[in-house]
This record gives sequence, structure tokens and C-alpha cells, in this order.
Amino acid sequence: MTEQPNIYRLLENHFLTYRELASVPVEDCGEAMVPIGPEFSGKVLVVDEQMKAYTGDRIYVREALVDRLEKAQQTLKTVMPDCDLQVVYGYRHLNIQTFKFESYKKTVLERQPELEGVELNETVHRFSAVPEVAGHPTGGAVDLHIVDASGKPLPFGTPIHKYDDDTYVFSPFIDRESARNRQILRYCMQVAGFAPFDGEWWHFSYGDREWAFYYSQPKAIYSQLNFSSVETAA
Ligand SMILES: [Zn+2]
Repeated sequence: MTEQPNIYRLLENHFLTYRELASVPVEDCGEAMVPIGPEFSGKVLVVDEQMKAYTGDRIYVREALVDRLEKAQQTLKTVMPDCDLQVVYGYRHLNIQTFKFESYKKTVLERQPELEGVELNETVHRFSAVPEVAGHPTGGAVDLHIVDASGKPLPFGTPIHKYDDDTYVFSPFIDRESARNRQILRYCMQVAGFAPFDGEWWHFSYGDREWAFYYSQPKAIYSQLNFSSVETAA
């Protein structure tokens, strides 16, 4: 009897690797970080308590993302008139990304102590992006889902930010309605110029390395920033 290949591991073959992302040159265009405001007619909900220390009760992104998010929202309205996009995450401070990365690194090293250098980064990257290539700290990545008229999220196979193998966009183990909702979200975001990430159905980016690689751009236009909109006591 031949052993069946694990479908999730096969899907992972299609994800961009740390090495691929690290190979993309970056030249920051200097665009400002702005809060997602009324120019975006969809919904915004801050879900990360840690980010409140840096950006209060608002979600910040690079300026060009706001119009693009609105375009995605308008596209959604043509397909699902009673629904809205709801953005739950944008800019992530480098300190938070580094903390997440280092904690996963510890977990990985407990299981595979022989890993080091690029190999170690590559393995950890599948669970938590290496800070130097991560999208959220550039202000170019967003996490979002679709909510109905009452504000309830549509089914997507898993809740947003719930990390398991079925968060993979093309998991064949989710129901048909969830699969359809994932495709509609992906369609709306791609029409607006965002690149999808096949490892998390809710994650999309513009201007970062993931976007540059996906759309064969010569370089990424957003680099990682140490940004804070909140006055911190010295
Ligand atoms: Zn994300």
C-alpha cells in the first residue's frame, strides 16, 4: 500500500519561501502611514491589544492602501450588496513582529535543535514571518474578512486569525460556501491590486516584498518601519 501524500504539505509547496522574499530588492518610496478613515466605506475593527500601545484604537496603513481598500469594497458591493469588508489588522510594529518570530523560533528549535541560519529562518517563516521580510511592519499588509448587514462575519472555513491547516486558501476540507467566500474576497482584493497570501485566506498586501514577487515587480516599495502614532512617555 502506498502512502498518501499529505494535502496540506502539498499546498505549502505553493507558498513563497523566506529565500524568495529575501531576494526581492526594496526601495522605500517614503509614503506616509495613515489611519484608515472615512475614505474607506467598509468597516474597521481593532482586534490586537498589543498594537494599541503604538497606534491607539485605529488601524494604520500606507496611504495608497486606503483608496485600494475602497476599490475592493466597491467591487464587493457589486457581488454582495448587503455585505462589507471589515479590516481587522494593518500596520504591526516591528517590536511585535520580532517578539512573535523569536517565540516561534524557540518552539522550532526545541523540536529541531540542529537548524541554523537560513534553514532555521525558512522553517520559522512558515509560522511567523521573518521580521526583515514581513508584510505587516511595512504598513502594506492587511487582514480582513467580509461581514453581513448585521456585522456578523460570513463563513470562511475558519474564523479570521485562527491558525490551523484549514486557513490555507485552497484547503479542500472546507465547505462550499466558505470556499466561495474566500474566492470573492480574493477577487475583490486582486481587482484592487493586492497580492493574496495562500497560507492565510484573510491576508493581502500591496507594495511589500510578497506583492512585488507575486506581480513580478522589480522591487518592493515599502520597507519595514518603526512607527507609532501614540506619544510615548520617555
Ligand atoms: Zn496578515
